Amino acid sequence: MLLSGGIDSATALYLTKKTRPVRALSFEYHGMAGSELRAARAIAALAGVVEHRIVHLPDVREAGDIPGFELAGRPASYIPLRNSIFYSLAASYAEEIGADAIVGGHNKDDEAVFADVSTQFFAPLQTALRAASPTLRRNRLRIVRPLRGLTKPEVIKLGVSLGVPLERTWSCHGDSKEHCWRCDGCLSRKRAFKEAGVIDPLGGNL
Ligand SMILES: [Zn+2]
Repeated sequence: MLLSGGIDSATALYLTKKTRPVRALSFEYHGMAGSELRAARAIAALAGVVEHRIVHLPDVREAGDIPGFELAGRPASYIPLRNSIFYSLAASYAEEIGADAIVGGHNKDDEAVFADVSTQFFAPLQTALRAASPTLRRNRLRIVRPLRGLTKPEVIKLGVSLGVPLERTWSCHGDSKEHCWRCDGCLSRKRAFKEAGVIDPLGGNL
């Protein structure tokens, strides 16, 4: 499954590992917060994944780091064709190890912002990946999004019930040792914990 250091993918990981062994795949792209990768490593270790693979993509940049990029309403953290890239690499990993599913932790709120977390994107991608590989076709590779019907506050509540180490997750776009509680990532984390009625173990909503 695809694992960032965030709450959603950590929750999808804990949900998935209840029923099957999981391998985690993380991407280190240009300018990515080192704290997010450290969080992904910690969560993978705590969850006891079979393997945590990290793919380095130093030339893949967030839109905010590309001079003159037209954001057109998307956040600066948008990566052009992000999921086309990430899921293709995940499918390559799936073929290598004989996996029959790729799991992504996208929630319902993401779909309103990013075109590449929609069913219109994932359904044909799954078909294309099976067409590209006899192994994936034989294994009937599926792209699974267990959180797709849940809002962020609902994901947090689910995470609490699954024992997700929320104190180890990382939501900040900055790269300090601690969350800044001012950037978009931090503010959306604060809002979601407040709406969920859950105290953030990192103290953001205290
Ligand atoms: Zn922040």
